[in-house]
Amino acid sequence: MEKQCFRCKNILPLKQFSKDRTKKDGYKNLCKACKNKVAKIYDYSKAGKARDAKYARTDKGKLSHRRSSESYRIRHPYKKLVQEFTRAIIALGELIRPEFCEKCKILCKPEAHHEDYKKPLEIIWLCAPCHGKTRRSK
Ligand SMILES: [Zn+2]
Ligand SMILES: [Zn+2]
Repeated sequence: MEKQCFRCKNILPLKQFSKDRTKKDGYKNLCKACKNKVAKIYDYSKAGKARDAKYARTDKGKLSHRRSSESYRIRHPYKKLVQEFTRAIIALGELIRPEFCEKCKILCKPEAHHEDYKKPLEIIWLCAPCHGKTRRSK
């Protein structure tokens, strides 16, 4: 009894094939030599993945991760500065905090909201719920 391997196309005696009960003739369609080759390729790809995982843990890999979280601060460099500035001018009496929310007109102690942190004096006074909504919609 012989069988053709679907990979190398060699016609080989059945003992060159591993047994496989799910196959009609009871043997795999892949000869043992090819099966070993495929297993090696599989191992190789597994090793490749392990290498990628290892790279993520290296300094270089970590750096590329850190860069992405730093980009937020780079995109919003004025935020902290403007918040401090706003607090300072309120404390100095240069800026009067109104007693109601500019959006829903509810009486409250509104928070300073900036549409643009590059314009620190353009303040919209919002109650906490309105401020939260504005922030979330961004
Ligand atoms: Zn083969
Ligand atoms: Zn409001």
